[in-house]
Amino acid sequence: MKPPFRVVPVKVDGRTRHAVADGEGRVVSASYDHAAHAAQLLRGFERRARQARRACLCCGEGFKSEGAHHRLCDACRRRGAALHGVAVQAVSVGRAVPPRRAPT
Ligand SMILES: [Zn+2]
Repeated sequence: MKPPFRVVPVKVDGRTRHAVADGEGRVVSASYDHAAHAAQLLRGFERRARQARRACLCCGEGFKSEGAHHRLCDACRRRGAALHGVAVQAVSVGRAVPPRRAPT
């Protein structure tokens, strides 16, 4: 497993700013006045660190997976979403529709 990233204080022109450092303490991002900005960047570094090339569980093609939750390639995910829409429509067709009231 790759070492974790973290937000660290850095001195720039005598001022304390914040940047992302890798697990070995090397600064790997630009620096920001606010730690929250560096923290936003940190999530991107963590996400990219989790990415690995994996085989899709549906079609077997290799794709860039973002982690244990991401095991279908984009094409298979789109097909799955489209099939979900068909299933929802089929259920809706079979649903009873309340009778209209006759105008009084
Ligand atoms: Zn696939």
